Amino acid sequence: MKQSTSTITILSDHISPSLIGNLQAKIRDHFELPVKIEEYLPLDFNFAFNRKRNQYQIDKIFVKMKSRNRASEIQLLVVDFDLYVPHLNFVFGEASPQKSLAAVSITRLKTEFYGEKRNDDLFRQRVAKEAIHELGHLFRLGHCSNKTCVMHFSNSLADTDYKSTSFCQNCLDVKKKNSRED
Ligand SMILES: [Zn+2]
Ligand SMILES: [Zn+2]
Repeated sequence: MKQSTSTITILSDHISPSLIGNLQAKIRDHFELPVKIEEYLPLDFNFAFNRKRNQYQIDKIFVKMKSRNRASEIQLLVVDFDLYVPHLNFVFGEASPQKSLAAVSITRLKTEFYGEKRNDDLFRQRVAKEAIHELGHLFRLGHCSNKTCVMHFSNSLADTDYKSTSFCQNCLDVKKKNSRED
C-alpha cells in the first residue's frame, strides 16, 4: 500500500470524554501524527451483534467502517461492548492494516469486570496500551518478544499490565521505517 498517513482519528461510541482525551494525549506521545476525536454516532452496530455470544464481531464492523474511511486516515474505534473474531472467545482489540482500521473494547479492561475495586489509573493505562498496540499493527509492526514493549502479545491482562505504553527500540526503528514508506 503506497499511501502516506496524515491523521489518526479516534471514533468513540458512548465513552467518557476524559478517557478519550487521555487516550488522545497518549497516542500523540507515541505517533508523530495529529490525533482527532470524533463521536461515532452514524453507525448502528446491531448487524454485528451475536445474540448467542452476547458479543459483537469486530471484523464485520471493520467491513462497514471501511466504506466510510477516508484515504490517508487511520481510524481507531473505541467501544464499551465485548468484541470477538471467529475462533476466539473475545478480543481486547483488533487491527486491519489493509483497511487502516483498529479497534479497542474497554469492557474487559475495567478492574470491575473481574469483581475488583475500581482503579481508573490502571484502567486508563490498559486502554492506552491496547490502543497503541493495535495502532502499531497498522504501521506493520508484528508481535514483539520484549515483554515490556507495547507490541508484546497480551495473552491475559497480566501481560498487558506488565508491558509499557512504549515501543522498544527495535519496534521504534521498524515503525519509523514503515512511516517513511510512501
Ligand atoms: Zn497484536
Ligand atoms: Zn518491541
